[in-house]
Amino acid sequence: MRKSVAELGADLKAHVDFLAEAGAGFVLRGGGADRDAEAPVKAPVSSPAAAGLVTLAGAPPQTPAERKALEEIDRQVLGCALCPLHRLRTNAVPGEGDRSAALMFVGEAPGRDEDAQGRPFVGRAGQLLRKIIAAMKFREDEVYITNIVKCRPPDNRVPFREEEEACSPYLVRQIELIRPRVIVTLGKTPTDYFAPGRESMTARRGRFADYRGIPVMPTFHPSYLVRNEGNRELKRMVWEDMQKVMALLGGK
Ligand code: URA
Ligand code: SF4
Repeated sequence: MRKSVAELGADLKAHVDFLAEAGAGFVLRGGGADRDAEAPVKAPVSSPAAAGLVTLAGAPPQTPAERKALEEIDRQVLGCALCPLHRLRTNAVPGEGDRSAALMFVGEAPGRDEDAQGRPFVGRAGQLLRKIIAAMKFREDEVYITNIVKCRPPDNRVPFREEEEACSPYLVRQIELIRPRVIVTLGKTPTDYFAPGRESMTARRGRFADYRGIPVMPTFHPSYLVRNEGNRELKRMVWEDMQKVMALLGGK
């Protein structure tokens, strides 16, 4: 799907906006030199979340049957009644983007806008996430965006453990079939799942963990950035994390 000139213009604007908000230093130093100055990308540490599960690193390319299986997962999620959240939803939100993306973003659960539209990250936090993606020089349809829980918890509360346990097999299967080269976990809920730890997000962000051979980069949830709008340091940290992801993907 090719983007129109207007859409490309909007992408570019989002790119510039986010970089400007993340701190003029990024804009002035420029992408290439900035990346060279980064510490070398460290090998991920192994995560207990994946203990005993088959590695996904170096798996063969996705097959047509696997692509079909991903569409089937979407259908299952849309009709799922495995946990009580199904009774409260307007729409379940399976995820969207390239079903063979190299880069996958995992959030917590749909919010009000996502529940209304059946699409992930379309509210305020979503708009910021999409700016970050544009700043990374990806088109939205080149990455995959989803959540660990696919239906909206009431009042956007953090999902209960049982809800996460009921829903996470969908995400695990999506990861097995999409086989992204890097996963970015947004905020504590998905980070706790893929890279469990007792430290704060501030301590855990910016360091790759490992999920079955796939590097996982924990970073702040965009809604945290929205809630702390004036805090440029947070944006700078997220941008630093995303530069590590870009470096691992070999740049664009
Ligand atoms: N917050 C999330 O974690 N996911 C969404 O899809 C929207 C907001
Ligand atoms: Fe099913 Fe997940 Fe929705 Fe619960 S949150 S009903 S497990 S899709």
